[in-house]
Amino acid sequence: MENLTKYFYIVTYGCQMNVHESEKLAGILNEQGYLPCENEKQADIIVFNTCCIRENAEDRAEGNIGALKKLKKQKKDLIIAVCGCMTQQKGYAEQLHKKFPFIDIIFGTHNLEDFKSLLQQKLSSKKKVISILEKETEIKENTPKFRTSFPNAWVNIMYGCNNFCTYCIVPYVRGRERSRKPENIINECKALINEGYKEITLLGQNVNSYGKDLGNTNFASLITEISNLDGDFRLRFMTNHPKDLTEDLIISLANSKKCCKSIHLPIQSGSNHILKLMNRRYTREDYLEEIKILRKYIPDIAITTDIMVGFPQETDEDFLDTFNLVKEVKYSGAFTFVYSKRKGTPAATMEGQMDEEISKERIMKLIDLQNSINREQSLSYNGKIIEILCEGYDDKKGKYLGRDTYGRMAYFSSNINLIGKFVNVLITETGGISLSGEIV
Ligand code: SF4
Repeated sequence: MENLTKYFYIVTYGCQMNVHESEKLAGILNEQGYLPCENEKQADIIVFNTCCIRENAEDRAEGNIGALKKLKKQKKDLIIAVCGCMTQQKGYAEQLHKKFPFIDIIFGTHNLEDFKSLLQQKLSSKKKVISILEKETEIKENTPKFRTSFPNAWVNIMYGCNNFCTYCIVPYVRGRERSRKPENIINECKALINEGYKEITLLGQNVNSYGKDLGNTNFASLITEISNLDGDFRLRFMTNHPKDLTEDLIISLANSKKCCKSIHLPIQSGSNHILKLMNRRYTREDYLEEIKILRKYIPDIAITTDIMVGFPQETDEDFLDTFNLVKEVKYSGAFTFVYSKRKGTPAATMEGQMDEEISKERIMKLIDLQNSINREQSLSYNGKIIEILCEGYDDKKGKYLGRDTYGRMAYFSSNINLIGKFVNVLITETGGISLSGEIV
């Protein structure tokens, strides 16, 4: 008998925001009767949810789309859809269509929620569908979600960005900041807690400016309200912008029983000269003052960051400022990047683009420094009992894994499935960034 079940396969590039948006695309497909499958060959529809923050993500996406030409020839009814930041760039959809004429549906970031109707359009007309909206639309609520990371759940609290950091393409492809109404966010969180989710991460390009467009709320009051919901769950959020992190917000974090003791606070550079060129709108001194305030209210808070090296005009002194700041703050983790030129951003045409070799040398120094900080912090875990939310099972290690309130990953053995449970683990082995131990 012919198998009538239809399958979908989604390839996601980029950040957590995109991972959650793929959960929405999957939700829309699932509502239409499609089920997820393991690989492209089994799929009736393949969706590429793309990212354009870095050039290599774009290159990888194009390479993977190109590799489907053969499959599409063999499987005439296969539908290939491409969406996300990459397609939202001016003129890119047409370029993509020319390069890969076998793509069936191309849409952007502003009409992700319209995927159902775009798919129906394709299925009924058999014609290619290219739909890119120039401007952001009103937030659409109630998009179905096919969540894939139990016991963790992602919740968008806002979309877009107003900041225009000079290296970043996001404001051009995601539009201006738009906040979801607090009642919609709280209802989504309540439903997730009732479904048994144990960790909620609130998402936005700059969660600290949540509510500015609504006028009657702010991020501090939102996290207080969510923290007051009944249930045994943790609350995280990302990402923060140092210019908008207020003392009031830090006090709300300190008072919240649900907020994890960790914060991601991207510094990008430790040099005032570079921060200005980046249009970050804070100084090294402002940032260090914030770290002081964070540690005043939450002394053991784990702080993670993003750092970019090789920004145009970065001198040895500028880099040294970054290096020394990392030494001083002692981050619990840092995502380090070499600056990548993005067409259409002011930094792409700045004078003083850096030599790749110099940037590589600098990033290696920074990685070495951060690794030594990680090792030192890991050692301090030895012999400690920590509360872990069990998030999954690692087949290779044959162990369960999860994170503590500071975001530190730990592995442990168990004969029973503990995914979604809080467990106490005695740390007996400390390595680089992850820990191992046994349940006590
Ligand atoms: S805050 Fe800056 S880096 Fe972050 S998304 Fe907005 S423009 Fe990009």
